[in-house]
Order: sequence, then structure tokens, then C-alpha cells
Amino acid sequence: MPEEVITHSADETIQWGREFATRLQPPVLVLLTGDLGTGKTTLTKGLVSGLGAANENDVTSPTFTLIHVYGKAQAKVYHGDLYRIENFHDFETLGLEDMFAAHAVVILEWSEKFPLPSPWPVVRIRLEHLGADARRILVLDRS
Ligand code: ADP
Ligand code: MG
Repeated sequence: MPEEVITHSADETIQWGREFATRLQPPVLVLLTGDLGTGKTTLTKGLVSGLGAANENDVTSPTFTLIHVYGKAQAKVYHGDLYRIENFHDFETLGLEDMFAAHAVVILEWSEKFPLPSPWPVVRIRLEHLGADARRILVLDRS
């Protein structure tokens, strides 16, 4: 039975992310799926601030920059977005191997575009639009 929550504002999603972050032990790969505007980046604000890597206001979408890194040596959080990655060559330029060399939390939006073999435990979270400001957040599996 997947874990499920419904939030009614961006702030509620950020707050849920902050609490969920306390259950993330690096190294871990967090895969976020869901349509544009469902709240993947918003949820990441909560995850990153809950992990103590940055203030939520400093977490912005890496849609164009592809990867953002937050935090210091021992507690790095990588936040990537594969939305604009068009082919395997682009994907390879992201330097995911470097991330996996670090003892980190890696959060990826649109990861379903390039299924990647992960050497780490994976947490999959799916976000769904329920209309207006309501969103369903589903924790699909933790392996
Ligand atoms: P994505 O990264 O999935 O494209 P964003 O997090 O960038 O989505 O955008 C989600 C948008 O929806 C933001 O403008 C946010 O303020 C708004 N929003 C409204 N209600 C919610 C909610 N319950 N959870 C998350 N975001 C919400
Ligand atoms: Mg986004």
C-alpha cells in the first residue's frame, strides 16, 4: 500500500517535504515524477531545507541549469531536472557518476526520461494534480 498524502497549498507540500527529509539517509536517490506544475520543485524546497542543506527560498528549478548543488561537504544535496535532456549524450554530460561518488542525496525531476541504474537505495515519489491547489503525493517505494 503506497504512502499517500493530499496537500492544499505549496506551503503544505514544502512542510511535508521537510518532514519526509528526516527519513532520508544519504546516500539515497529520490526520483520525482509528475506533470509540469504538480510540485516537484516545490517539494524539493522542503526536502533540501529539511536536510539542512539550504533555505527553501534558495532552492530554484534546475530546468535550464540542469543540476544545482546545495549544502556543504558532508551533507550535499544534488537537485537535477532531466526535462530538457534530449538524448543520451546530453544525459552523459550531467556527470551523474560524480554525484554517485559523493555521499549525498540526489533528487531528480523527470527521471523517467532516462531510467538510470542506481548504486544507491531509491525513493520514488509521484505527484498528481487534483485541481486548483490540491496535489496528491504518493511515496511509491523505498528500496
Ligand atoms: P514542477 O516542478 O512539478 O513543474 P513546481 O513546483 O515548479 O512544479 O510548480 C508547482 C506550482 O504549483 C507552484 O507555482 C506552486 O506554488 C503551485 N502549487 C499550488 N498548490 C500546490 C501544492 N499543493 N503543492 C505544490 N505546489 C502547489
Ligand atoms: Mg520543476
